[in-house]
Amino acid sequence: MRYLSTRGHPERKQFCQILLEGLAPDGGLYLPEHYPQVDDATLTKWRGLRYADLAFEVLSLYIDDIPAADLKAICAKTYTEEVFGTPQIVPLRPLESGLYLEALSNGPTLAFKDMAMQLLGNLFEYELARRGEELNILGATSGDTGSAAEYAMRGKKGVRVFMTSPNGRMSPFQQAQMFSLQDENIHNIAVEGVFDDCQDIVKAVSNDLEFKRQYKIGTVNSINWARLMAQVVYYFAGYFQATTSNTEKVSFAVPSGNFGNVCAGHVARSMGLPIAKLVVATNENDVLDEFFRTGVYRVRGSADTHETSSPSMDISKASNFERFVFDLLGRDGARVKALFHDQLGSQGQFDLSADPAFQSAAQRYGFASGKSTHADRLATIRDTYERFGTMIDTHTADGVKVAREQMQPGVPMIVLETALPIKFAATIEEALGRSPDRPARFEGIEALPKRVLVVPADVAMIKRYIVENVH
Ligand SMILES: *Cc1c(COP(=O)(O)O)cnc(C)c1O
Repeated sequence: MRYLSTRGHPERKQFCQILLEGLAPDGGLYLPEHYPQVDDATLTKWRGLRYADLAFEVLSLYIDDIPAADLKAICAKTYTEEVFGTPQIVPLRPLESGLYLEALSNGPTLAFKDMAMQLLGNLFEYELARRGEELNILGATSGDTGSAAEYAMRGKKGVRVFMTSPNGRMSPFQQAQMFSLQDENIHNIAVEGVFDDCQDIVKAVSNDLEFKRQYKIGTVNSINWARLMAQVVYYFAGYFQATTSNTEKVSFAVPSGNFGNVCAGHVARSMGLPIAKLVVATNENDVLDEFFRTGVYRVRGSADTHETSSPSMDISKASNFERFVFDLLGRDGARVKALFHDQLGSQGQFDLSADPAFQSAAQRYGFASGKSTHADRLATIRDTYERFGTMIDTHTADGVKVAREQMQPGVPMIVLETALPIKFAATIEEALGRSPDRPARFEGIEALPKRVLVVPADVAMIKRYIVENVH
């Protein structure tokens, strides 16, 4: 399998070449040259597999530069009951008739990002050892991504993490999760400022190409193909749990921000998994819902980006969306470049409403969408708790709300549970008048000793800190 850029660059790369990279050289995103097709016999064979073995089968179709035995060992060590809490790894729980929750949030940081990040940690360690190289991951987080990255990379050989976050702005639980890590290769940097200041620092450091090369600076952001590929696996796992034969179809509802999670669903569907609808659920930051309703993709300015009670979906643009548009437009790299580079750059939006490709998008690609507000979230959390005794988090609530609008008779609807309620306790208390359950292993984490450096939003100072801690 070779990988290409969504903006038409002629170069083709292998998996391990793009594993440690961000964007393609032309600013595009990497995608496989084609989606391997999974036929009925293969689905039947995969149906009974344990999650780690299913992951190996799916990943093998996309990775041909890691020996099979090594890849199998990496999958086996990643997807264990010990790390993810159950033998099924992503168990399905029923709500009302025909509606299920797929639990993706029982990993180390209680958000679905662990599903991909835990694999990425093991792939990075493997590939860096093979090359005899090191990598210093520099990131900015407002919560879920940073903690998932730290828990995936802690103790890994050849990798250090320098994670900036806005000082005092994450929830106490999220701060405790990250700052209580005592591993030597994990560095928490609390910046006196907001999330955008952190992102600006990361950009400034990465734009210093000489520094970036000398100190081997890398990232783990959501556009990494390996993360997306890892997420394809749980669409298969959810399908097998909800059906007994390959003639049945299911739909998925996905709480969405950067379009990474639901893009993995698009890949699974393109491989032949019998998916009826892929339902994109957004919060008040409805860039994606607007596109699927109208054909207009309009990036929001910071004044137009709302702080909501499902904060991991608070986006101004959806960084993985370009991948879907590439497929939608028949993989025309020149056109994607004109839209995402030229038009978005100059006008902040593009309009595909008159394009036949957009008009048949729902039919050809199964996409549907909807939006959920703070009031919807509260009502959905309350209703789900009262009727089923099941407590869901704010992001999952956005998914459940929109899923209910999109259900079809006879087609199971699977909502991806993207975080556990304990991470967003304040809104749960607002909805239910009680605090969320806390898994036993997180009792008292707020009282643990913290390892964090508080600094002003000063690029030079952060560079100096990196230099002093890379040896
Ligand atoms: C990251 C995140 C999302 C959004 O996922 P995308 O892949 O960016 O669409 C939704 N819910 C939670 C809890 C998250 O952490």
